[in-house]
Amino acid sequence: MKLVIMKFGGSSVADAQKIQHVAGRVAARRQGGFRVVAVVSAPGGMTDDLLTLARGVAETPDERELDVLLATGEQASIALLCMALKGAGQEAISLTGPQAGIFADTDHTRARITHIKPKKIHAELAKGKVVVVAGFQGLNPNEDIVTLGRGGSDLTAIALAAALKADLCEIYTDVEGVFTTDPRVVADARKLNEISYDEMLELAGSGAQVMQGRSVEVAKKYNVVFEVRSTFSGAPGTRVHQEVSYMEDVVVSGIAFDRHQAKVSMIEVPDRPGIAAEIFGALAQVGVNVDMIIQSTAQGGTNDISFTVPQGDLKKALAALEPVKSELKAKDVVHEAGVGKVAVVGVGMRSHPGVAARMFKALADRGINIQMISTSEIKISCIVAKDQVDAAVKGLHEAFELGKKTRVKA
Ligand code: ADP
Ligand code: ASP
Ligand code: MG
Repeated sequence: MKLVIMKFGGSSVADAQKIQHVAGRVAARRQGGFRVVAVVSAPGGMTDDLLTLARGVAETPDERELDVLLATGEQASIALLCMALKGAGQEAISLTGPQAGIFADTDHTRARITHIKPKKIHAELAKGKVVVVAGFQGLNPNEDIVTLGRGGSDLTAIALAAALKADLCEIYTDVEGVFTTDPRVVADARKLNEISYDEMLELAGSGAQVMQGRSVEVAKKYNVVFEVRSTFSGAPGTRVHQEVSYMEDVVVSGIAFDRHQAKVSMIEVPDRPGIAAEIFGALAQVGVNVDMIIQSTAQGGTNDISFTVPQGDLKKALAALEPVKSELKAKDVVHEAGVGKVAVVGVGMRSHPGVAARMFKALADRGINIQMISTSEIKISCIVAKDQVDAAVKGLHEAFELGKKTRVKA
């Protein structure tokens, strides 16, 4: 019998009625002749509420205890979904991440899955039950609960699809698939029928929260083909896989944005080998991911080095740079929290020049100033003022004609 992984995000299990709706979809799949493993997120908003609660009792909550707390959101969902399934006459069993045999490393709040021992899942499936697994969590070698980073239920679903060699992996959410950009920002954003892992990775890495970036990395590594689709409609979604039929043909597939970036500049650091290693080494040590980096040309034996970090990491980054600043005798460390990032992504960029020029012109035509630029083989991103992010996204969507059925071809 074929095996399907069905993952439901927070908005899909936000209240009793929605949980019953999800139960209906899951039961229908089981009755349609599939073995079903459902993965669920915490009810929408619960993880944020728990975080606020934790920060209310301690300025910097202990990370081990924070993980114990955050993991409860998903545990509420698995119990509720199983109650709804049983109420509808479908045998089901809830399993926490540790019960499901999901093992992870010791990095609290952002742990990586190390391996999965799906013995119990197999045993329960063999009894004909739907197995409902809590997303976003696992057990570390100290037998402590760890969580897998925000959006981590996607990772649970993809990793289970790989470990169980599932025939299908479906990510159910509150939109009908992956769109050319966030449909909440651009009304004529179009649903993509398919997208490559590489593009999905770049979109996720640039702020498109529809899939957690790390989950896409794992899907690519283990070649897990998955579909992003709507919990609330029967419309076909977006297939995410290795090869897409439009490869190289369409220049830009999508636009992503992130309104929560911060810019940091180290002013007048010495122009000699090892300086960048020291600065970014200090940030890496405290787990801060740096995105764009710009180094000015040297003047009078010194450089300015600017870079961006997620806004939530700004405090941590500034604290880590304090000793580096004194050691390097830098003139100053300045920062700006209110910046945003917009990125255009497309595999076609590999073979077609001119995308950058077109992007910059579209922004210039709308009076949007570019503060920083970075590129990869299939992505160009720009830092702009936070309050211009929406205008930038709309402008780029229009300039690359992403709302039209036939997108800009080379
Ligand atoms: P879930 O709770 O199901 O995990 P998320 O909120 O994490 O759902 O992700 C879905 C949301 O991602 C959508 O509601 C949408 O606003 C946002 N989003 C951002 N970029 C895109 C995009 N390119 N395509 C579809 N949705 C996007
Ligand atoms: N509940 C977690 C979060 O809000 C994990 C998830 O939803 O995927 O980030
Ligand atoms: Mg999500």
